[in-house]
Formats: sequence, C-alpha cells, structure tokens
Amino acid sequence: MSESELRQIAQIAVQLTDPEGTIRGQVQVDTGPMRLADLVPTAYELTNVLGARANKREERAGRKISCCQGCAACCRQWIPVSPPEAFYLADLIASLEPQRREELLGRFDAIVSELERHDMIEGLFDPKIDDGPRLEIGRRYWKLQLACPFLVDESCSIYPHRPVACRDYNVTSPAIWCSQPYDHEIAKVEMPIPFSIPLARLTGELIGSKPPLIPLPLIPRWVSENAGLGQRTWPGLELFRRFMSHLGSKPAET
Ligand code: SF4
Ligand code: SF4
Repeated sequence: MSESELRQIAQIAVQLTDPEGTIRGQVQVDTGPMRLADLVPTAYELTNVLGARANKREERAGRKISCCQGCAACCRQWIPVSPPEAFYLADLIASLEPQRREELLGRFDAIVSELERHDMIEGLFDPKIDDGPRLEIGRRYWKLQLACPFLVDESCSIYPHRPVACRDYNVTSPAIWCSQPYDHEIAKVEMPIPFSIPLARLTGELIGSKPPLIPLPLIPRWVSENAGLGQRTWPGLELFRRFMSHLGSKPAET
C-alpha cells in the first residue's frame, strides 16, 4: 500500500485552559507518517487562538496592544525556537527561490560570525528551559543589535510563519520603549502556554535528552547537524497525542 493510501485525516478534540476558562475545539491531524515540523502549523494555530484571547483581556482591562506588523525593535532580541519550529523554518528557507535563499543564508552566516566573535554561541543554547529567561545573555545579545535574518526593510519577511516566540511577544507599553527595553519596564502580555516549550519538551522526550531551544540565527547550522531527526517520522496520531500530553491536554479522537 502506498504512503498516500495510508494517510487519513482524523478530527481531534482538544481543550486548553487560559485565565478565562476552558477552550474546546477540534484540529485535523494527518494519521500518516508525521515529522516534527508537521506539528508546527497546529502549534501556531493554537498560539494564535490563545494570543487573541490574551490581547482581548488586555484591551478589556483598558490596556491597548502596541504591536503591529512592521514594528520591529523587538526583532533584535534573542529569539529561541523549538526543534520542530527549526525544522519547519528550515523547510521554508529551502523552498525559497535560489537568490532569495542565498541572500537570507548570508544574513544568517553574518550573525553567526558575529556571535562567534563574541564567544556567545554556547551560552545561547540553554537546555534549562524551565529556569526562565537568561537575562544576562539576553542583554548581551540585545547590545549587539543583530537584526533577525528574516527582517527585511524593518518588516518580518515570514510573518505568517514567524515562530511562537514572536507570536507570543505582545506589549502594552509604548512601542518606542521597545528600542530601550533595559531602560523601561516593558509590559508584556502574559501568555498562558508558550507553545515552543511543549514542542521542545516533546523533542527532548523523543531523543531522550534535555529539551533543546535553538537561537533563531543558529537554525541552519543546528538543522544541518540534526538532519536525521528532521526527517524522522512517527505515526501522526501518536506524535500529536504526545505533543498534547506536554500541554496537559488529553485529546480524544472523534
Ligand atoms: S514588541 Fe514592541 S517593537 Fe515589537 S511589535 Fe510590539 S511594540 Fe513593536
Ligand atoms: S521571525 Fe519575524 S517577527 Fe520574529 S524576530 Fe524575525 S523578523 Fe521579527
């Protein structure tokens, strides 16, 4: 039987909890062989749902969201991504037409060289993802003012595909303060579930080691060093259920 004949779409009921209560919905899961990267669109979709609710809560409380597309001071921060997101974004880069891909990879290389020059590569890989943001390395990264390689003309060139960390980062403090985040108290909108963490935890469980988070500019290098993991597949339902178990959610097939 061919791979396409083995594939079926299952409707999976999911429930998530945020400060307003329980959200129930359904997602479609391909039951055929699934790579880690294939989980990312669903993680993005769930992030968007929780993010929209979090932003509405802020607005109901009288706090206006300052963020909008094209506002980009925050795109010079240290952005950690989970392995499934790294594989997903590497696929996206590989799908670009050659000239655009080469220009983009050149920007990645330039940032990596700068980080090597400052001996920061090791410090940016933080296996202790439960320990919260590593303020000192974040501050050092910020001081270098390295624009994200995906930033073009001060706008995100992959906006619909941007990582969870970027989707989750919304503020109600004035946008101008984001240019001096260490001189002001940035009012970040609290997100109940940062989905990069369960994606990283799932990967840690599958590879039997500490859950890794990858600094965004290191994506091409990390993906090429872990190409086997990127191509490995699991039965779709099993992989999705294991992912949901890291959210504390119990999906049920319908
Ligand atoms: S976090 Fe700050 S810089 Fe980034 S989009 Fe929001 S307001 Fe703009
Ligand atoms: S991926 Fe897009 S939104 Fe995220 S830091 Fe890069 S340019 Fe900014």
